[in-house]
Amino acid sequence: MELYQQDPYCQSVATTIAATTFVKKRPAVLVERNILYPGGGGQPFDRGSLLVGGAEVPVERAVRVEGQVFLVLAGPAELDAGQEVELRLDWPRRYAHMRCHSGSHVLMGAVKRRLSDYVAKGIDIQDGGRACTIRFEGAWQPAPQEAQAFIEQSNQVIAENRAIEVVEFADLGQAIAQAGEIYRGPREMSGPVSIVTVAGWDANPCGGTHVRAAGEIGPLRLAGCETGKVRFEID
Ligand SMILES: [Zn+2]
Repeated sequence: MELYQQDPYCQSVATTIAATTFVKKRPAVLVERNILYPGGGGQPFDRGSLLVGGAEVPVERAVRVEGQVFLVLAGPAELDAGQEVELRLDWPRRYAHMRCHSGSHVLMGAVKRRLSDYVAKGIDIQDGGRACTIRFEGAWQPAPQEAQAFIEQSNQVIAENRAIEVVEFADLGQAIAQAGEIYRGPREMSGPVSIVTVAGWDANPCGGTHVRAAGEIGPLRLAGCETGKVRFEID
């Protein structure tokens, strides 16, 4: 499990430059301990900075390339492999994404309860973490009243401040057995699997970052629905 999944609240870490390189002709580094999320699964990438001596080098984005997370720098910087640095996360940006992303898990749990043939098709976090669209397949005629009911069920879970946990399992079979009836993820995946659980409500494989307690999300507001989509906003 990556550091940003183990402790999504970690905002800075002492680390060492493992390599300097280029990603799409932009200067980039690999670090030994990384806390920046490279994006994926509908959650945008993180930004941050590297502190070297008294200087601050902005990190424009983290990006995953062939299994490794590179930190793309805003411009050229004098960094060398072996150098000790402090890596800082742009926390307000990340936290907004984390809250919104967690809200999508809660809402998907509500929609799944209504649609027995629910198949998740992803999420899109927008407006800097203030809005999110969940996408799914299943027999559902979009109806604002019903979508509003999904939101209200979600807000009940959020008001109950249910725990949100990520647990890694050796394989998907073990994960599904542990999650039980609330599991709504794919039935086939290879290798170790990280399952994100909203206590008693939702369980799904996910590699993103999430808040620890549903109350941190704050209430969802319905922002629209159409075939296979429900959109919400948060403050
Ligand atoms: Zn997630």
